[in-house]
Parts: sequence; C-alpha cells; structure tokens
Amino acid sequence: MKETSHDLLANTPSGRANALLKVMTERGYVPEAFIDTFTHTMEVEWDPANGARVVARAWTDPEFRELLLRDGTAACQQFGYTGMQGEYIVALENTPTLQNVIVCSLCSCTAWPVLGLPPEWYKSFEFRARLVREGADVLRELGEDLPDDVVVKVWDTTAESRYMVLPVRPAGTDDWSEEELAALITKDVLIGVARPRAVDLPRGTEGV
Ligand code: FE
Repeated sequence: MKETSHDLLANTPSGRANALLKVMTERGYVPEAFIDTFTHTMEVEWDPANGARVVARAWTDPEFRELLLRDGTAACQQFGYTGMQGEYIVALENTPTLQNVIVCSLCSCTAWPVLGLPPEWYKSFEFRARLVREGADVLRELGEDLPDDVVVKVWDTTAESRYMVLPVRPAGTDDWSEEELAALITKDVLIGVARPRAVDLPRGTEGV
C-alpha cells in the first residue's frame, strides 16, 4: 500500500518529525548529509567530557580559571568547544557554601558544546518549576547530600546566555592529573545538581 502523508502524521513526535522531513526533503530544503552531520554533532561532539576538561584545566591552571570566569566563551574556545549554543558561555563559580544550579525555566537550554544535550529530567515541568522555588530540596531529592549551610543559587538560562558550573575541587586531589580530575566531572556536576567527590573515583580507575 502506498504510504501517504496521513500515515506519517501518526500522533507521535517521531511521526510528526518524519512527516516534516519527508516534505522538506521532497522540496529540496534539506542539504545532502545534513541530518547525518547534525546527528554526529549531537551524539559525539556535544559531550559533557568537554566541560569536564574545561573544569579540570581551571582547577590546575589559575590563569585559565581567571579567563574562564571572566570570559567563558573564550576559555571554551581554547579547546575548540564553540558553535551552536556555545556563542556566549558563562561559568558559575561554586564555593564550599555556594552551589550554583542551571535551569531553563522556559524549555531546555544548555551550553551544548560543553554540557551536551539536556537530560530528560532537566526538561521536565517539575524540575523547572520546583528548582527555582525549593532548589536545596530538589538537589537532595536528586541524591546530593547537601549541608544546611550551602546556599543554592539558581540561574535561568536564556537564548543568549548558556551556563556551566565550575565546581569546587574535591579535597585530596592535589596531585591528580587533569585527566584524573576530569573523570570526576559529570553532566550533573556541570548543571550543578551534583558535586564532585574524590571518593567517586579511586585513583587509577579512570578510563575503565
Ligand atoms: Fe530552553
């Protein structure tokens, strides 16, 4: 049976996406290899390991740290982490008593080149609505053992500004290499809903 546009318009996100792709392809609006190239960028190049390298450099290089906090875009550019949704990156500096957390209360924005695409929970109405009102409670529900003296500061991403959190370097990591330090940094840490701990990764297990 011949496929019709009606078949493609199944009431699912993928059905609607496929219908749109079919029409745009038929009309020549989709450049050759665009979908494959963009998929590769999303799945491979936009990686929280990028943000982890930036944090590890900031922990080990005071000049780079100063640059990151002054001009996050320029600091990330030094690693080649730039492009779409990385045009204006702002790094938020945590302290032992200040925990910065990122949200996009409108939708789901993150700094794609350094954080990767947002996790599902980041896009949920509940996270977006509750974080701005009861941030500390939300972090504890997500599993973070947050002391009472830590103030949670919530940053609402906009179309123009994309944030990344610069966490506090865990105690006991003074002689760790950048690679070892970077292995402590996850997407959750870069969003600010978790704090890195050296006990999460005993030395010598990175890359396993
Ligand atoms: Fe958004």
